[in-house]
Amino acid sequence: MSQETPTILPIQPILANSAIMEAVTRQSYPAATLYVVATPIGNVCDISLRALHLLSIADAVACEDTRNTAQLMTRYGLHKPLISAHQHNEREVADKIIARLQAGERIALVSDAGTPGVSDPGAKIVDAVKKAGLQVSPLPGASAAISALSASGLIHDQFYFVGFLPAKAGQRDTLLQSLINVPATMIFYEAPHRILESTQAMLNAFGAGRQVVFARELTKLFEEIHRCSLGEAQAWLNADSHREKGEYVVLIEGHTSDEDNDQLEAKRILAILLKECSVKQAALLAAQITGQKKNALYDLALELKNAEG
Ligand code: SAM
Repeated sequence: MSQETPTILPIQPILANSAIMEAVTRQSYPAATLYVVATPIGNVCDISLRALHLLSIADAVACEDTRNTAQLMTRYGLHKPLISAHQHNEREVADKIIARLQAGERIALVSDAGTPGVSDPGAKIVDAVKKAGLQVSPLPGASAAISALSASGLIHDQFYFVGFLPAKAGQRDTLLQSLINVPATMIFYEAPHRILESTQAMLNAFGAGRQVVFARELTKLFEEIHRCSLGEAQAWLNADSHREKGEYVVLIEGHTSDEDNDQLEAKRILAILLKECSVKQAALLAAQITGQKKNALYDLALELKNAEG
């Protein structure tokens, strides 16, 4: 993916004479409004004209990390007062934002990347501003979840956004168990240092046959979108040491009607047993637990064992 962008993008001079910029600036941006502005998730050019214009007329920009936002704004030749609004001070800063909005200001709310309030700070500020009877308006743009879904190739009438899994293994596994029968494509965010462990937990929960899509470093130089079965996932992750780095969205195919519930249960039980027993013993015990055929369970256990590598 090419990222050849000049260091500074003086957006207003570039677009000042164009008809499109005229249309953007002629639109109405009411005062006394909080604007929730999406910013790029990697590629600095992925920001809308309306977002840039709003940032240029806002009285202040509330942001997760002032250094990141200052850098983004500078690239577009924009300089505005920044208000630090992160996950630890959202409630307090909301009061300050409300006071400024009541005085008739336009305030932009951004996060470090993507859409504020989506696994990012912002939702509490929006809630407080709305409760104070003030206007909130979104300026849509990049979100890692939707970008990954759109390029996943998974056919989805519905999707289920999970976001980050709990860091603690027990809580993570309980959540995954609760998702086994979700019929929609599931979307997870994951940190690179946990990707191997989480993928193993997903394999244990959903079974080797489910399709998974890894959307890594979207819109960046080393973007990768890889689809395989959960049984093949560890091998793909281990094939390149770079895959333990970078940002990931993980999508899991939803439960389908042709995926037999009994088989899912058998896979779950086998995955647990295989941690302690041989393939043969695991198949034997699983047959006793589930009442299913030993031979079929043996094949399934072998598949799971091979997938683990
Ligand atoms: N609010 C953001 C959004 O709308 O996408 C998400 C913020 S969340 C704190 C950050 C997580 O989003 C990362 O850990 C990763 O899972 C995912 N993410 C963000 N940028 C990404 C990218 N360029 N490629 C893949 N995943 C990304």
